[in-house]
Amino acid sequence: MDHFVYRDNQLYCERVPLEQIARAVGTPFYCYSEQTLQHHFAVFRDAFAAAPHLICYSVKANSNLAVLDTLLQQGAGFDIVSAGELARVQRVGCPPERIVFSGVGKTSQEIRSALEYGILLFNVESVGELHRLNTLAGLLGRRAPVALRINPDVDPQTHPHISTGLRRNKFGIPYNQALALYREAATLPHVELLGLDCHIGSQLTALEPFVDALRRVLLLLNSLEREGIPLRYLDLGGGLGIPYEEGRLPPHPRLYASALLAELAHSPFAQRQGTLILEPGRVIAGNAGVLVARVEYSKEGEEKRFLILDAGMNDLLRPALYNAHHAILPVARRFGREERATDVVGPICESGDFFAHDRLLPTFQEGDLLAVRSAGAYGFVMSSNYNTRPRVAEVMVRGDRFAVVRRRESIEQLLENESLFGAST
Ligand SMILES: *Cc1c(COP(=O)(O)O)cnc(C)c1O
Repeated sequence: MDHFVYRDNQLYCERVPLEQIARAVGTPFYCYSEQTLQHHFAVFRDAFAAAPHLICYSVKANSNLAVLDTLLQQGAGFDIVSAGELARVQRVGCPPERIVFSGVGKTSQEIRSALEYGILLFNVESVGELHRLNTLAGLLGRRAPVALRINPDVDPQTHPHISTGLRRNKFGIPYNQALALYREAATLPHVELLGLDCHIGSQLTALEPFVDALRRVLLLLNSLEREGIPLRYLDLGGGLGIPYEEGRLPPHPRLYASALLAELAHSPFAQRQGTLILEPGRVIAGNAGVLVARVEYSKEGEEKRFLILDAGMNDLLRPALYNAHHAILPVARRFGREERATDVVGPICESGDFFAHDRLLPTFQEGDLLAVRSAGAYGFVMSSNYNTRPRVAEVMVRGDRFAVVRRRESIEQLLENESLFGAST
């Protein structure tokens, strides 16, 4: 459920017409609904209420400070993947014991910053990282809290670019090496061995891969118990999909949670009241945001119509990167207009610069506004300055009010860090 709805044929975010925001801030812009973020988080959290748990929202999905602040107020922790994301969650005041740090390539500097802040858990992805963590923690006179990220080798049945839990992926520790690495980690003086982590991919639309992965890691967890290495945390990552298209419904968070909790119920981990960690990203933010753009030109081709927007692939990369489907809605709905196959495209000189191919859409005129739905996750965060295009504004709506939560970039800002050869100081 979300709060982007038509009233009198005008598309609103909560109680603010998108048209009103467009007039005030210009286009294109991302618009997030605070109430939708809160609702998605609450549904997810409540689904896991029966077990000790910590929900660490995956910052990379949408890292705007206002989004993080909204979720923090709801009780969220955060899953970070860089020093930059650490700085963001520190900025909104997240206590260290609600932060987990994932990623295959943590640098020494990033590890030091996170150790100094005293985060809850490092999700360690290789033997090299484990040893580096042990050394750096020793130098700081600390113990590094560690979970090993295990690659369970299950097929998440999602797009290859966002599958992470297969043997051929770069992520995690191979399942067959896990036990040996736990034994080794248990001997390291500056490592506090606390957990097991796995994350198999993103935009998963079936439960089976999640359950398969959980079964695999529970076997490991049980073996570790028997060896006298009981773990306090089981981190099952993120990855639950969202509906982008009508009719293709991923499982509801309640079903997802009950499938996982049922599988866990009789494990020694659950009997010891171990804490479950979840790292949802897309399912929280995806349908809480839209990208609003203006039609610059409507062009009749030989076979179809092209709508050329003032937003492009640099603003929303998902169609180009994953051939992703995003619903496209008129901001002002008018009835009785014939629908035609339309390509909705951006201004960039790349054939990958599109939002939709052959979409049945009514006629639009120059200056009309469109909303690209489901753009709240992996939208703005993946945007770039390609074609020297300033990144767009981000707006958050709260009830009948809105605020710009990231100003539109200026062209001066884009040129600021550049200089001619030899002219820099
Ligand atoms: C990307 C990522 C997530 C979030 O994935 P979603 O599909 O957005 O829920 C969680 N954990 C890790 C380790 C990730 O890389």
